[in-house]
Formats: sequence, structure tokens, C-alpha cells
Amino acid sequence: MIELESHDHSHCIDQVLGAAEAVCKEKGLRLTDQRKSVLKILAASHVPASAYDILDRLNSARKEHAEAMLAPVSIYRALDFLLQNGMIHRIESRNAYVACSHTMSPHSEITIFMLCDQCGRAGEFQSESLGGLIERIAATAQFLPHAPVMEIRGICAECRQIKTESS
Ligand SMILES: [Zn+2]
Ligand SMILES: [Zn+2]
Ligand SMILES: [Zn+2]
Repeated sequence: MIELESHDHSHCIDQVLGAAEAVCKEKGLRLTDQRKSVLKILAASHVPASAYDILDRLNSARKEHAEAMLAPVSIYRALDFLLQNGMIHRIESRNAYVACSHTMSPHSEITIFMLCDQCGRAGEFQSESLGGLIERIAATAQFLPHAPVMEIRGICAECRQIKTESS
């Protein structure tokens, strides 16, 4: 479970990249430089980034090295690959993406995101019991859910503490 509070984040980046390499090896896929650099940007923060945020960040780095600019389509292609292989999640309400922080353990049926309105961070949580409940509700409706994601907006523990201290 990812904590919304500040933590040693270098560990998160290593874990995300390591898990992606392992998935690629297992499935015989290639984590190209482009895919890896997009994943690295997403893993570098728990604040979801839009495709254009990613493009801007990659292109400003390329500019420094006098390299050719990337087109948005190449970012979208990399994002599709990462999404399809469960390395990242799409946060619909923000039209943005975040690296999966449950890479080391199998995903439950439902992914829950707690999204902080103040600092923008997204915490990823899983619940077997909620997953089972949604499966039952869907079965009653003869609905076949695929990769359900629940987004819960609010204020994270860290932001709430800052608020009480200053008031
Ligand atoms: Zn982290
Ligand atoms: Zn995940
Ligand atoms: Zn917050």
C-alpha cells in the first residue's frame, strides 16, 4: 500500500522500473528507451501527469541535448503500452496517468485511488472485499466490468496536518 505521506521516494522509482523490466522479460516485450523514459517520469511523482506534461518534460530534456523533439503521438503510444501491461493507471477525472504502485503483488479486481485536492497526489489502494462486492453487484446486472477503478477525492493526511497546524 502506498502512503500519501512523504517517504523515501527513490525506492518507489526503483520498484516501478524493476517490475516493468520483469514484466517485459516474462512476456517477451521490449521496454524501449521511450517507454522507459515515460514510465520514469510517472514513477518520479505520485501526482498524476497528463500526456502533455510528460511531453513537455521529455522535450525540455531533449532540447538541452539538442535532440529532435518528440511528437504527442509517440507519448500516447508509450502510454498505451504501459497501460496495457499494467505498469501505469489512467486517472479519468484528471485526464492523467500515474505509475502503478502495486507492481510487486497481483492486483485485486478493483483499484481505488484516493486523490488529494490540495497537493494533487494519488494514493493507490486495493480491497479484496470491495472487489468482491462490486463483482456481485455487476453479476446481478449481468454486467461484465473490466479493470474497474474507483476515484475518491479528498484531502490527504499530510495536507490535513498542515491545515490544522496553521489554523
Ligand atoms: Zn513514492
Ligand atoms: Zn496498480
Ligand atoms: Zn495532499
